[in-house]
Amino acid sequence: KILIVANWKCNPTTLLEAKRLFQTVSKTASRILKIQIVVCPPFVYLPIMRQVGKGAIKLGAQDCFWEQNGAFTGEVSPKMLKDIGCSYVIVGHSERRRYFNETDEQINKKIKAVLKSRLNPLICIGETIEQKKHGQTPKVLRHQLESALKGIDRKAIKKIIVAYEPVWAIGTGIACLPEEAQSAGLYIRKLLTEKYNRRTADLIPVLYGGSVNANNATNYIKEAKLQGLLVGGASLNPKEFLSIIRSVSLL
Ligand code: PEP
Repeated sequence: KILIVANWKCNPTTLLEAKRLFQTVSKTASRILKIQIVVCPPFVYLPIMRQVGKGAIKLGAQDCFWEQNGAFTGEVSPKMLKDIGCSYVIVGHSERRRYFNETDEQINKKIKAVLKSRLNPLICIGETIEQKKHGQTPKVLRHQLESALKGIDRKAIKKIIVAYEPVWAIGTGIACLPEEAQSAGLYIRKLLTEKYNRRTADLIPVLYGGSVNANNATNYIKEAKLQGLLVGGASLNPKEFLSIIRSVSLL
């Protein structure tokens, strides 16, 4: 199944809006079998979304902590997320790296904790505009992926999803060209093959994220041959998000 993941980020600001948005998407999701829709709302809405949805949508968190419990004020653990019915956790989003100084080492610890709780980590990697200008995209992707997967064995890797999210494309309206997304996707698969093997690498979905909208969504599946999309801004507009889902379902 193609994966379409909605990252609501720090939105919406009321439970009522969150319920409405989720219900609208949920109605359509239950009719589209070819796509697995995952919605990642803020933590506080997660248990309520589970009750509101019809089960066709899987739930994801936007982050988590690397310990399962203890004296860590303000943190939410993978074990808690699993218990309330979450299936996915976004780890290493560029906004967390940038605004909260998340390091590669912390991201690696989070991925290990997510796997330990039998959840699917959705690992975000991608270059900044400066790195792209200096031709450093492959070097950055290699570094971020290798550090994220440090110490993770072939058996566990099957639960992993990788999202290529060029930082310059996130929230900017400047979407990546399908050719660029395709070459990044192929490079990610090459790195996974080097670390594990071809068969294992082929099991891992590689998604694209960065200013996806109803006009460009199909390019990343059809032309770039990626296995799904991570949608930020457009996932908050039910009309736009449902158009993305419908256009991909018609491929
Ligand atoms: C994201 O937050 O992962 C993202 C891709 O955002 P946007 O679609 O708004 O660029």
